[in-house]
Amino acid sequence: MKVIWNDKIVERSEVKIDMEDRGYQFADGIYDVVRAYNGKFFTLNEHVDRLFSSAEKIELVMPFTKDELKQLLSTLMKENGISTGNIYMQVTRGIGIPRNHTYTDPELVPPVFTATTTIVPRDQEKMDQGMSAFIVPDMRWLRCDIKSISLLGNIMAKHEAHKKGGDEAILHRDGIVTECSSSNVWMIKDDTIYTHPDGNLVLPGITKIMLLKVAREAGMLVKEEAFTIEDLKKADEVFASSTTMEAMPIVSIDGNPVGHGQRGAVVEKLQQLYVDAVEKECGQ
Ligand code: PLP
Repeated sequence: MKVIWNDKIVERSEVKIDMEDRGYQFADGIYDVVRAYNGKFFTLNEHVDRLFSSAEKIELVMPFTKDELKQLLSTLMKENGISTGNIYMQVTRGIGIPRNHTYTDPELVPPVFTATTTIVPRDQEKMDQGMSAFIVPDMRWLRCDIKSISLLGNIMAKHEAHKKGGDEAILHRDGIVTECSSSNVWMIKDDTIYTHPDGNLVLPGITKIMLLKVAREAGMLVKEEAFTIEDLKKADEVFASSTTMEAMPIVSIDGNPVGHGQRGAVVEKLQQLYVDAVEKECGQ
């Protein structure tokens, strides 16, 4: 299996990461995940833009241009024979010796870029049946708009949900629902679709942007408005969205059924609109 290591495509076994890499020591880095269908990337520009935007927000100077990165990602996908799957990419601030929270001139210390691929088909069964979630306090920092590799808050929340037998954690700050541990969250009440607006409390999901677009084009009523745990508990339908899950129904929360406890009609329609958008860009 080949991977990208800085500006080269190499065998995974060739990669050497310094033990004093700031990514390893401080989780000082950023990442993104982009998905390909039928050998073609879906929303690649948006993912690359977000990676560069995360880099800018932490004053990390990217080691190549957006076009160079897109070229490298395409080559890796072809070399690994990926048809439908994910590319995970991350950039850390590179080696920092001696260990120090502050970082030196980004021009002097090169960042470290890596990317790997995995073959992941669409999980149609799960998308039909939906998943379960538990509500967990959002203990993360106040820059959730940055796709940071520092994910302890997300890990602890998801693990909490897993221990109770759930698939995802729905996070809240003082009763206001923000997002899930690794996805954006949405609720539907009386045919209106709600999701938390972008800002510092949630990741600006690319799947969210796409779903907002296709829903509005289809004449569905969508509001980027925050909602409370109480609203969530009374919702007709709830779902999560991410690059890897697409639009995933949440059919139970804290052990109680959402609506009638099965995937609802609005989520099903959104799933189809999203698949249509994928097929338009990547073929069937
Ligand atoms: N929110 C969080 C915390 C995430 O980790 C993710 C995806 O990893 C998302 C939202 C969804 O983002 P996207 O749709 O771009 O995959």
